[in-house]
Amino acid sequence: MKKLAAGNWKMNGRTAQLTEAMALAAAHPSPTVDVLLCPPATLLAAMAQAMVGTAVALGGQDCHAAEKGAHTGDIAAAMLVDAGASHVILGHSERRADHGESSADVAAKVRAAWAAGLTAIVCLGETEAQRDAGETLAVIGAQLAGSLPEGASAENTVIAYEPVWAIGTGRTPTPEQIAEVHAFLRQNAPDAGIRLLYGGSVNPGNAAAIFALPNVDGALVGGASLKAADFGQIITALE
Ligand code: PGA
Repeated sequence: MKKLAAGNWKMNGRTAQLTEAMALAAAHPSPTVDVLLCPPATLLAAMAQAMVGTAVALGGQDCHAAEKGAHTGDIAAAMLVDAGASHVILGHSERRADHGESSADVAAKVRAAWAAGLTAIVCLGETEAQRDAGETLAVIGAQLAGSLPEGASAENTVIAYEPVWAIGTGRTPTPEQIAEVHAFLRQNAPDAGIRLLYGGSVNPGNAAAIFALPNVDGALVGGASLKAADFGQIITALE
């Protein structure tokens, strides 16, 4: 299965940071893994322009469930496509927490993304309290069942396991913990070919060990994707 290195810039990046994307593309002209950058929506079109002729694909960080209409401030999946995206991150824990998105909301967005021709990167993960209570697999199972509509396949969906307590904290689960959740996801995903990313404090120092684990098909990288040099090392660790 071809690996995927996905960078999530979150609410970071202005026009000046396009140079990081350009440096990344120049350093990895023909990577053997898929490389994806998900900049803020304001940068998508400009980044798409800058990435023409490179191997770097682009994604959005969210979309609305509706095709178009009276939804001030929201972005439709077809608009992401129009701006140059092929993917969209959906159900990130920051959206679930900051915007109260339920798994049913996420599923509706996934349908909208598919309808527009986007590949959905569906995020799920437990909080620290849920892990401490021994609920991790139950939480992941419920999020998986609730967030993925009928019809999810290796072509239209990627799943990202991101423990909430590992995001932006510098803490990562043990290898056993990651391997356990990824084995569970492989068994329970509707298509065994769906790529399973790990996300949460992936950096150049820990990437190789994480990628050596079974059923880890790549990474969703936040902070370390903002610097071409760091993200480049993570890409190299996947190759
Ligand atoms: P992080 O974020 O790599 O900064 O921990 C990962 C993510 O939230 O996608």
